[in-house]
Amino acid sequence: MPVILSVRGMRDLLPEDTAHWQAVETTAAACFARYGYAEIRTPMVERTALFCRQLGEHTDVVQKEMYSFIDAGGEELSLRPEATVPTVRALVENGLRRGGLERVWYGGPMFRRERPQKGRYRQFWQLGAEAVGVADPVIDAEQIIMLAQLWNDMGVQDKLCLVVNNLGTADERAHHREKLRTHFRHHESQLDDAARARIDGNPLRILDSKNKSVQEVVNTAPLLANELGTASQQHVASVKNMITGAGIDFVEDTTLVRGLDYYNLTVFEWVLKDDSRRQSTLCGGGRYDGLSEQIGGPALPGCGFALGLDRLAALVDKASHPAPTCYLVTTGGSDSYCTTVAEQLRKNGLSVWRHVGGGNLARQLKKADAMNTALAVIVGTDEESAGEVTLKRLCDGEQQQVLTSRVAETAAMMMIQTG
Ligand code: ATP
Ligand code: MG
Repeated sequence: MPVILSVRGMRDLLPEDTAHWQAVETTAAACFARYGYAEIRTPMVERTALFCRQLGEHTDVVQKEMYSFIDAGGEELSLRPEATVPTVRALVENGLRRGGLERVWYGGPMFRRERPQKGRYRQFWQLGAEAVGVADPVIDAEQIIMLAQLWNDMGVQDKLCLVVNNLGTADERAHHREKLRTHFRHHESQLDDAARARIDGNPLRILDSKNKSVQEVVNTAPLLANELGTASQQHVASVKNMITGAGIDFVEDTTLVRGLDYYNLTVFEWVLKDDSRRQSTLCGGGRYDGLSEQIGGPALPGCGFALGLDRLAALVDKASHPAPTCYLVTTGGSDSYCTTVAEQLRKNGLSVWRHVGGGNLARQLKKADAMNTALAVIVGTDEESAGEVTLKRLCDGEQQQVLTSRVAETAAMMMIQTG
């Protein structure tokens, strides 16, 4: 029989990974909580229509990366490619309950059918946060400051830099798009087919073109910055003031547009310092004031970000994770007595690996050593008839025979004695 393998771009996280990931997730959850963010969990599957317009009909995600299907009831559904839109849907559907400003964070798998490579998977994990209900730039700045704090907590602050841009309002962007169309039509003969095909649908995408002759046209294209009104300028200026005041460095980059259509005003990315921009975005976010109305909800301004957990976990140093404390070996003790001893230890907070598969004492002790446990708990027939066990400290061979009722406290003591 041929072996059935996992799906391309979807990987297993093994026990040594999950311990590390949990540590990263716990640090993040604690950091978010300090800023008043509470966890939200939305379904992995949503109606396809929820994503199409909100992320943008012309974005890669919607055009070619969604895992969409029709279920047995004929509904058009998709595995979520991101969680901002589902989160806003959930807040609209359930109503804001925290005084008109809901601060939530989420974590979980997202699905995009892109070409798998290092740091890019078809099932990947994101951690993100959204603040919905308030248009104040304080929120944008607070999220950026929270992320800077998170990088500190993770010890990766020196590896990242912050890039900020101003996307203005939907009207300002529409104005700019019209000017771009005029510009590109004027220079149509210098464009390639791909660029020409984008003039009507999404002229902004032409700005990313790698084609030399297209780039020349791009270099003289009108800038969004010139279309921004005073209110837009003031909003992002005030965000920049607040983050500068918090001691956070950043660079401004007018080419930072983000991949999804719902953003306006402040957008930002944290990218790896020594790497080319494209593959190295760890975290991206910004404001999305029109999103709630686009999905049929009330006018609810919002701001949020998502970070790639696969990429963050790879960046954070792996702490070594301790093995269970005790390894229970037996030379003739009954199964039920061994169970009693192991449960006695566990009830007192110690972790126990129980040896299975037989073998003599020497072989079992060798296994305990190889597993890197601190103590061997030896249960023989003599010990059992006396209601006792032998504890053996593996680093120096120190050994004590104690009553089962005192096994946990003696084990703890023996571990303290070696530091
Ligand atoms: P990229 O430019 O790397 O494709 P993106 O702009 O598509 O990223 P977002 O939609 O903003 O990404 O998602 C936020 C973060 O989620 C990214 O910065 C990245 O760290 C992570 N991410 C996105 N797509 C993937 C993927 N396919 N595999 C692993 N991580 C991903
Ligand atoms: Mg992408």
